[in-house]
Amino acid sequence: MSPPHRRPRDVLIVGGSLAGLRAAETLRAEGFTGALTIVGDEHHAPYDRPPLSKQFLSTGGEPPDTRLPVPGDLHARWLLGQAAAALDPRSRTVTLADGTPLTYDGLLIATGASARGLPGTPDGVYTLRNRSDAEALREALGSCRRLLVVGAGFLGSEVAAAGRARGLDVTLVEAGAVPLERAVGKEVGAFVGELHREAGIILRTGTTVTRFSSDPAGGLTGALLADGTAVAADVAVLALGAVPAADWLTGSGLRTGGGVHCDSRMRALSLDGGVVPGVVVAGDVAKAPQRLAGGAALSLGHWSDAAGQAASAARTLLLGEAGPPWDGIPSFWSDLHGARIRSVGLPGIADTVAIHEMDLSTRRLEAGYHRSGRLVGALTLGRTARLAAYRNRLADTASRAEGAPG
Ligand SMILES: Cc1cc2nc3c(=O)[nH]c(=O)nc-3n(C[C@H](O)[C@H](O)[C@H](O)COP(=O)(O)OP(=O)(O)OC[C@H]3O[C@@H](n4cnc5c(N)ncnc54)[C@H](O)[C@@H]3O)c2cc1C
Repeated sequence: MSPPHRRPRDVLIVGGSLAGLRAAETLRAEGFTGALTIVGDEHHAPYDRPPLSKQFLSTGGEPPDTRLPVPGDLHARWLLGQAAAALDPRSRTVTLADGTPLTYDGLLIATGASARGLPGTPDGVYTLRNRSDAEALREALGSCRRLLVVGAGFLGSEVAAAGRARGLDVTLVEAGAVPLERAVGKEVGAFVGELHREAGIILRTGTTVTRFSSDPAGGLTGALLADGTAVAADVAVLALGAVPAADWLTGSGLRTGGGVHCDSRMRALSLDGGVVPGVVVAGDVAKAPQRLAGGAALSLGHWSDAAGQAASAARTLLLGEAGPPWDGIPSFWSDLHGARIRSVGLPGIADTVAIHEMDLSTRRLEAGYHRSGRLVGALTLGRTARLAAYRNRLADTASRAEGAPG
């Protein structure tokens, strides 16, 4: 029998953005009065990332305010501009990059993810994950005529759409047959491809960039594609996915392949599969069991799941097994060419897609996603009201699914 749960005297949160802030808010809302320290390697106070690939890039005027409101009564010690470099769960110590040790009673890991890049790219090739990346890219777009975006997932599609909204010539290169194929399937991906083409984006699918070309000063001039064609560009954006920011946990004994593995109460797991005492995880860095996927652990990269997991992880720190497991139905949104795509569940794990409505002229789309005959997700465009019914069905399915937390 495991020993009874003891509330932590103090809590250290590593990662000072969405999940870190939501966790801190939940701790205080649940009556935690101990010392609370938040470490973040960015110099910015918490801010929202979704606008960075949308309104932040699409207009040349005043950029939108992306700050997340921080409650005045949070009473947290913020250590910003400081990276955590190591964790020793035996001595309950996190060591910062400058060598400073921080001991903890409870630890919440919320370090998110970083953009996947390519080595040796010339000046003018950008990635986009944080506010500094977005500021640099926004400035570059100010003097750009031809934009090349590599990767037509949600991020690349949004950046390409933002470039078009600014009137740039945009080429979007995608290795798959259609944009977003892994996330939403062939049919919906093809629909998004048509939205891009209608907006004037040159969409090049089934090919990749083999190398970038530059002028003698090292500035970008374009790229050569695998099909032998060349694309001229002043600015390129790599939108090749994100990698969970778990490198700093190497050697800690936590299981970190593809994100920090955790159980349904967001408790970090060790290499032998046991729960690491006093350590929970939330947000894009977490690899958490998904009931809709039969309990398989996935790292989602969705805003609302990061927020929900953070609240659940904070409650686990306070309540242990008495706390509720994380049982959220994943959800996601994206804005493309003035249309809002919304999804619930896990469309990416489906083996069959049922298209109930698909009309490019009215920009309406409704699709249900099934795996082994069971509903696992839904996606709409211009039909947001219909998602609530899908969400209810998914919640029902999830609560009955094998692997549901008890
Ligand atoms: C450009 C962009 C657009 C997006 N658009 C959407 C959207 O439309 N819809 C949607 O649902 N989701 C969207 N997302 C995803 C959403 O923003 C994320 O799911 C959410 O930010 C995850 O929050 P998080 O706190 O887990 O991670 P993050 O927001 O990544 O925060 C993690 C923080 O920890 C810091 N950190 C990392 N390592 C360390 C360390 N060793 N020590 C200290 N601090 C560290 C990071 O610098 C960062 O500040 C978008 C993401 C991006 C980047």
